[in-house]
Amino acid sequence: MVIVMKPNTPQSEIHRLHEKLKTLGFDVNLSQGHNYTLLGLIGDTTQINESQLQANTYVDRVMRVQHAFKRASRHFHPQDTVIDIDGHKVGGGHLLMIAGPCAVESQEQILTIAKSVKGLGAQLLRGGAFKPRTSPYSFQGLEEEGLKVLLEAKRQTGMPIVTECVSSETVDLVANYADVLQIGARNMQNFALLKKVGQTKKTILLKRGLAATIEELLMAAEYIMSEGNTNVILCERGIRTYETYTRNTLDISAIPAIKELSHLPIICDPSHAAGKWEMVAPLAKAAIAAGADGLIVEVHHQPELAFSDGAQSLKPEKYGHLVSAVQKIAAIQNAYV
Ligand code: PEP
Ligand code: MN
Repeated sequence: MVIVMKPNTPQSEIHRLHEKLKTLGFDVNLSQGHNYTLLGLIGDTTQINESQLQANTYVDRVMRVQHAFKRASRHFHPQDTVIDIDGHKVGGGHLLMIAGPCAVESQEQILTIAKSVKGLGAQLLRGGAFKPRTSPYSFQGLEEEGLKVLLEAKRQTGMPIVTECVSSETVDLVANYADVLQIGARNMQNFALLKKVGQTKKTILLKRGLAATIEELLMAAEYIMSEGNTNVILCERGIRTYETYTRNTLDISAIPAIKELSHLPIICDPSHAAGKWEMVAPLAKAAIAAGADGLIVEVHHQPELAFSDGAQSLKPEKYGHLVSAVQKIAAIQNAYV
């Protein structure tokens, strides 16, 4: 961290701050120019209160050299993290395919979809039992009954389960059934929930918030990791912009940016980005070409009857075409890395 003092700061004030920083345990590199004095801090500055420093009358600017996220940073962990979910790997060149309906609707619906997507190349089964809906009048999910339905599908297909956890109170319940706990876009900064899932041993699928920056997403991952759980998969699912033609705007640039900043796997959800099934395949292919480590795609055998997100759900046949296409794109991508 570098602290830039304002021009004409009295020497006594520079000395006072220098001494204070030393008592906090930092080595301080003092550099005095004609107009500006710089204080370079050496040591772990993650705990420093930047705003308090900035409040000092004589401080012009405070600049971080290191990112505020540490455990999620590639700086401290240069190799890609590879996460293994029941033998299915993601990260470090391993592509993970997650598919299933937006919501768990019935045992029959889940079994039909699970069996078809498994046959088409999906490794993990998704499905929401607790649904975070914009309207309180929309279908809220089957809750624990939905979790039981998912577990039965796992028993019959062997597919590990990915399902969303919407509150701290239900983490233990969801963790009893699921292999991967999904934190949805609307909960990305629910810090109590992040800490709670950070105390479990489950893999966490952390989706980017609707209006979250890349740094905020990585700080959310840091919350989970700082509790001891380092199995975090990040997910770009589109952000809110002024564009209304699509449901959200898929931020393709987030994929290479996150690859540079972090060692954590990053997958893409083209379904919630597009909001329209016709656009799901092109966005998914673009994400894989940009280096994404996998996809989470909404698939429904009868989208016109789906309780939620039917308009963005692929029919199984289309999902099958998408899987073969992205496998080829990923092979080319890996060859050119
Ligand atoms: C979902 O995956 O069903 C979902 C609600 O996604 P998001 O949190 O990205 O909106
Ligand atoms: Mn959905």
